[in-house]
Amino acid sequence: PFSVLPDLIALHAKTRGSHPALIQDGQQLDYAALNSKVDQVAAALQRDGFQAGDSIAICGSNSIPYALLYIGALRAGMVVAPLAPSSTPEGLVTMIKDSAAKLVFVDQAVDQALGKTAEQHQIKLMSMDDSCTENAFSQWLADATPTPVTITPEMPFNIIYSSGTTGDPKGIVQSHGMRWSHIQRGIVFGYGPECVTLISTPLYSNTTLVSFLPSLGLGGTVALMAKFDAAKYLKLAEQLSVTHTMLVPVQYQRIMAREDFDQYDLSSFHMKFSTSAPFHAELKADILKRWPGGLIEFYGMTEGGGSCMLAAHQFPDKLATVGKPLENHDMRVIDEDGVELPAGEIGEVVGHSPAMMTGYLNKPEKTAEAEWYDAEGKRFIRTGDVGRFDEEGFLTLMDRRKDMIISGGFNIYPSDLEQELRKHPDLQEVTVIGVQSRSWGETPVGYAVLRPGANTDAQAICEWFNERVGKTQRLNRLILTDELPRSAIGKVLKRELRDQFQAQYG
Ligand code: ATP
Ligand code: MG
Repeated sequence: PFSVLPDLIALHAKTRGSHPALIQDGQQLDYAALNSKVDQVAAALQRDGFQAGDSIAICGSNSIPYALLYIGALRAGMVVAPLAPSSTPEGLVTMIKDSAAKLVFVDQAVDQALGKTAEQHQIKLMSMDDSCTENAFSQWLADATPTPVTITPEMPFNIIYSSGTTGDPKGIVQSHGMRWSHIQRGIVFGYGPECVTLISTPLYSNTTLVSFLPSLGLGGTVALMAKFDAAKYLKLAEQLSVTHTMLVPVQYQRIMAREDFDQYDLSSFHMKFSTSAPFHAELKADILKRWPGGLIEFYGMTEGGGSCMLAAHQFPDKLATVGKPLENHDMRVIDEDGVELPAGEIGEVVGHSPAMMTGYLNKPEKTAEAEWYDAEGKRFIRTGDVGRFDEEGFLTLMDRRKDMIISGGFNIYPSDLEQELRKHPDLQEVTVIGVQSRSWGETPVGYAVLRPGANTDAQAICEWFNERVGKTQRLNRLILTDELPRSAIGKVLKRELRDQFQAQYG
């Protein structure tokens, strides 16, 4: 039977009210307190005239009020549009209008950044803490019981915007039914009353929700971090006896790179998860060796067009893959003309899942571009990612289609070059992009971050690399940098690097 998050929280409040639900910076809310605060939010929204189906936006760092607002709005049957605080004010205005949010909850930092622009567009902001004296959050809460709302699986839960890695973010509506499947699946991964989940990825992202929802839905404890920091993460993990966590690959990398990593007691860990960006095999192997508990990688997209899963601890010889499609998820590979390809061949990955989006919000032409139908008329979503299935059904990803390099008529996969470049002992982070070339159409250029204390230069690394690869794969140039441009969720922004290269050397 279908159950919704706010109802599950009410249930835990009744049966185990004093069990900790949310923890942050020494503050703690048990299930009874969480449930009554959620009631106060729902009642306040209803008092202010909001109805089931209306949307609100939330924009800020991870915090307990953020979680309260989210769940409170759901209890009132409303739809939540969680927005990335790292977006520009103009970007935020676009998303607020697109989501039809009538009210936007912000923290102090977003209030300062967005305030003026919001006023120009007559967008109403409301502070989600008490830092803003005019609308103090604690005074806004209603001391009342909300009118109950019946929620069905088809009703929208949230509007999540895609990361905007390849273009403008696109709004995707996810239903309560889809979210329920995330909670249910959590049982298999050991989420439950005894779990303590440490969350340091932002609450606006789908990546975070697939871990946040089963933790609370199944009665466990969620510890929130507002901002990721590897040292703080390790301290907290030990202190709180963390059992579950979701981290993106670059966070794993920063944690594993710490010299004091092996001094922490991480024996409480049961399961670790990762998704969002390429997670290279060597890093997975290092985590399996030195960090107790299982390791699961998901590959998927906000659009919900199918996901793959790799239980790395069970398939140590498949670490270079993202695993196999989940049950009831159908994933295939197609060529440039939309013709399906057999196992072993490289093409664009398309996926079908029971919970996939019906379409992008207000963008029918983008929806049409993203759809692919098989011979039987079954509907798939195009991922924009290039990959190949092996004979056993494991998927290896290469690159996003938009990042592939066509040089002198050859397809070059930046991921192949990155894998080779990563072998250089002095490099900590690497990426390869295609830039325009008069003679080749496009040509590969590498960007890399040196390990601390490394004593070498770009030219030496480039020569080292070019001796190891075939003629067509040679780097035209290698550029050392202090930091690769990344999105707030840790994806390398190749689009930005290409612009940067063009401006500097083009
Ligand atoms: P946009 O669609 O706006 O350009 P985005 O595709 O980054 O942004 P998301 O839906 O957040 O937005 O991310 C899905 C994408 O993330 C996938 O298409 C894939 O490129 C990448 N991804 C997700 N999981 C993995 C993984 N395990 N390994 C490699 N890449 C992954
Ligand atoms: Mg995408």
